[in-house]
Amino acid sequence: MSGPVAAADAPPTEPDASHPSAACVEVTDSRIAEVGGVPIRRGLPQRGRRTVGPWCFEDHMGPTQVTETGGLDIGPHPHIGLHTVTWLLAGEVLHRDSLGTEQLIRPGQLNLMTAGYGVAHSEEATGTYRGELHGVQLWVAQPELTRNGDPAFEHHADLPSVEMDNSVATVIAGVFSGHLSRARTDTPLVAVDGVLHPGASTWPLRPEFEYGVVALSGSVSLGEQVVAPGQFAYLGVGRQELTISATDAARLLLIGGEPFDEPIIMWWNYVARSREEIDTAHQDWLDEHQRFGRVDSPLLRMTTADPPWRRRT
Ligand code: MN
Repeated sequence: MSGPVAAADAPPTEPDASHPSAACVEVTDSRIAEVGGVPIRRGLPQRGRRTVGPWCFEDHMGPTQVTETGGLDIGPHPHIGLHTVTWLLAGEVLHRDSLGTEQLIRPGQLNLMTAGYGVAHSEEATGTYRGELHGVQLWVAQPELTRNGDPAFEHHADLPSVEMDNSVATVIAGVFSGHLSRARTDTPLVAVDGVLHPGASTWPLRPEFEYGVVALSGSVSLGEQVVAPGQFAYLGVGRQELTISATDAARLLLIGGEPFDEPIIMWWNYVARSREEIDTAHQDWLDEHQRFGRVDSPLLRMTTADPPWRRRT
């Protein structure tokens, strides 16, 4: 779920495509990969679409089966400059971090970790859970004001739920239809889980936000466009509302926010503003510098090869 960002997702130095100034529906196929032994579909970042608001990473994990020998196993790894948002539809995952947090997460709950200047965490199978594992992990880029600040962790077991026509929306972060999640936000953003019944549902949006939609299960129609699991729909800015229809029951994730105007560089598990910042962070991780603390986990500490700009050819 913690996903290392590779050049296959988006080259670290390639500029983003221009963000349309009007509403649109651009559907792209997510990249299929595997993280920690679990199949994932990566909707963000992609070539030409690196951010939606401050959201800079989206992995749709599973559904897959957790067995005695197979489950999520992501050893301790570092982050800087981002929040991780973990949201499950099925299963259980154990989060451990260098702040000393040990938190089991279940469906309908939010784990929100703030990396700031540096944090490390692991994401582990519980050892006892068997059955389906299905969820998403997202990253939110932190703004200049907070990105060099302290790390933090929040667990929210109780999030606002909004009954709409033909759908039930859970407000994971931000404000939706007048309901506020208590989760920390450093810039204006929203994340909503929607359970759709067959029929049409109209959701209120904010015209100054840009939005993206991930079909988590079942297909949803956004106007003429059908979005299925494994696809990411970018919706642009300028919408007052969004009509979503489903022929059969479906589940979706809506993310949005004010377009993020700070140019970010992402590599592996780092979100920064320059290669030098990434080089320093990665060297600090390799040196086991106190910046990233220590995670009390039975799993091996993760590492990776140097960034492409430091490799000898
Ligand atoms: Mn991670």
